Amino acid sequence: MPELIDTVRQLLALNRIDLVRYELQTEIEQTPRRLAALADELTERQSERSLQESASSDAAAALRAGEESLAKMEKRRERAQQRIPMLKTSDQVAATQREIEAIGQDVDGLELELLEQMEGLEQLNARLANAQRAADDTKAALEDGEKAWEVRSPVALAEMEELDAERAPLAGELRSDFLRRYQLAWRQRGKTNSTGVTTVQGRICDTCNTEVSARWLQESRDYVALHSCQSCKRLLLFDPDAPSRSREPEEEPISPQ
Ligand SMILES: [Zn+2]
Repeated sequence: MPELIDTVRQLLALNRIDLVRYELQTEIEQTPRRLAALADELTERQSERSLQESASSDAAAALRAGEESLAKMEKRRERAQQRIPMLKTSDQVAATQREIEAIGQDVDGLELELLEQMEGLEQLNARLANAQRAADDTKAALEDGEKAWEVRSPVALAEMEELDAERAPLAGELRSDFLRRYQLAWRQRGKTNSTGVTTVQGRICDTCNTEVSARWLQESRDYVALHSCQSCKRLLLFDPDAPSRSREPEEEPISPQ
């Protein structure tokens, strides 16, 4: 029997476990981070809502003050009109009529201004409603996420413990230099996905698209040597138990399995 066939089986089993561990680890690390980011977002949305709230109430107060000024102007105009029949001279009448006219112009101006303020207030109130909705939605998402993680995190941690227990004897049985090479492959991150093992199409590494030495591939297929892709460092392993291990057309005949 080729000497490394069991080693290859062990490395493949280890890699299967480590792929699941990696996903689990990512979940365990990322979920609290995602929830913390959501909590920050909620704080931001709540302060945005408070800003909109004070903008709306300031605008409403300004509108009320404007309406009070308008009422006072109307009263002044009324009093001036009531004064006219009691005036003695035509000069006095003319002066009062000029006063009435001036008040009328002020009233017209203020009325236009108040209309604009009313429109502005409506826009501010619409923005406030949006800010309120955004804050409510974020709060609901955070609460849902926290509740789900409360249920999920003990399960994920237990799964991780199980995998660790499954992994330990496998890693313990491997020759330390093989284990080191396998671990080196896992440490190669960057553009390629995280795994310790790669497959090939013809002579091209599936992980990094680099051409691999034909001799190395042959030795790997024969389970007589352990090789890694030169570029991505993933181990070049061929599963001895894969049911449909078809021969590549350019492949040389290999020793019987
Ligand atoms: Zn590669």
